[in-house]
Amino acid sequence: MKKITMNKIVEMDGDEMTRILWQMIKDELLSPFVELNTEYYDLALTERDKTDDQITFDAAEAIKKYGVGVKCATITANAQRVEEYSLKQMWKSPNGTIRAVLDGTVFRAPILTESIKPYVRTWKKPITIARHAYGDVYKATEYRVPAPGKAELLFTGENGESYRETIYDYECAGVLQATYNKDSSIEAFARSCFDYALSTRQDLWFATKDTISKQYDQTFKLIFADIYEKEYDARFKKAGIEYFYTLIDDAVARVIRSEGGFIWACKNYDGDVMSDMVSTAFGSLAMMTSVLVSPDGCYEYEAAHGTITRHYYKHLKGEQTSSNPIATIFAWSGALRKRGEKDGNSALVSFADALEKASIDTIDSGIMTGDLALLSDRTDVQKVTSAQFIAAIRRQLEKLLG
Ligand code: NAP
Ligand code: MG
Repeated sequence: MKKITMNKIVEMDGDEMTRILWQMIKDELLSPFVELNTEYYDLALTERDKTDDQITFDAAEAIKKYGVGVKCATITANAQRVEEYSLKQMWKSPNGTIRAVLDGTVFRAPILTESIKPYVRTWKKPITIARHAYGDVYKATEYRVPAPGKAELLFTGENGESYRETIYDYECAGVLQATYNKDSSIEAFARSCFDYALSTRQDLWFATKDTISKQYDQTFKLIFADIYEKEYDARFKKAGIEYFYTLIDDAVARVIRSEGGFIWACKNYDGDVMSDMVSTAFGSLAMMTSVLVSPDGCYEYEAAHGTITRHYYKHLKGEQTSSNPIATIFAWSGALRKRGEKDGNSALVSFADALEKASIDTIDSGIMTGDLALLSDRTDVQKVTSAQFIAAIRRQLEKLLG
């Protein structure tokens, strides 16, 4: 069979068990069918340390250049890792670095199969959470008020004009917190959400608490509405999708009653909390995909889970593990599909579709990794190792590709 050719994407290798899965996926499910054309960046912790993290910045710049990247899970250094790997310093999270360079929004969506039922009975299609990953309580200034006194909000403009208002006259001790956000970041968030809704042809929901937060949350609502009217309304109508704004508490109630199949855009804190709720309710972290979309249309795909350290230590002892490669496979299929869509390469798009179908069909034939076997209520489940699971997907894929 002639291999499918493609334009270049950025490949970012990673750490531990996911690095092992990465190579298995390439060897068994990609290279036999596609003439893989990637610019390779090794983001293994040892390489980041060796290059003083320059490799991460280079990879992020390359995503800007080529428009599409795929990333393996990586270790985020902490004190224990500094010791384990004798690091020069506690390097920042690669995902944070890449996000800062691309100024993007992260979209997380579960992969659904017949064999694993969501805890919420009405959910039939995935719910994608779009989290604004900038500002608010994550960049707050806080103060523990020790004793009675007056707290004021003071803003001094560059032009010397100022704004001052009493927050509270404390008659006792208490707490005080100041959060901020900025229009440029909210606008980038809005555009990423609208673009992603168009590119996946799903409705977009957005919710804040603007009835209570009449300046702060109201600004989010107004910026979204303004950008939607001016830049997206006609394109949404043409695509047959809808933009829908409501209050966050109303959104929560509607999400639980819904069938799924839409994108739920959340402010930073709401997105943090709601993405854990949604992913758990759908089943497993090993079945969550994640894509970073920049406002200028660059896409970086990865699995939502980490490097599965506990399994890696077993692997090092020579044991076969039953780690689930699905989210990493879908990171690859997502990147290949996006490359194909951008270039009009329909063979590549079809391959990505076939790879995803083969993966899901394998699970729905009862062959699963241990994490899924625990979740499934089928009685005929065959629990297999990662290698056996990938081999089973390969057999399905070969069948599909004829
Ligand atoms: P994790 O790697 O997601 O794993 C946590 C646990 O979840 C695993 O021990 C395993 O449970 C289960 N699990 C996760 N993915 C699985 C899969 N594909 N197949 C089967 N089971 C899976 O999180 P962590 O242990 O907290 O973090 C490990 C390392 O990953 C850390 O160094 C962290 O910095 C890094 N991390 C990276 C990213 C990223 O690059 N995007 C994200 C998160 C964390 P059992 O052990 O019970 O089987
Ligand atoms: Mg969280």
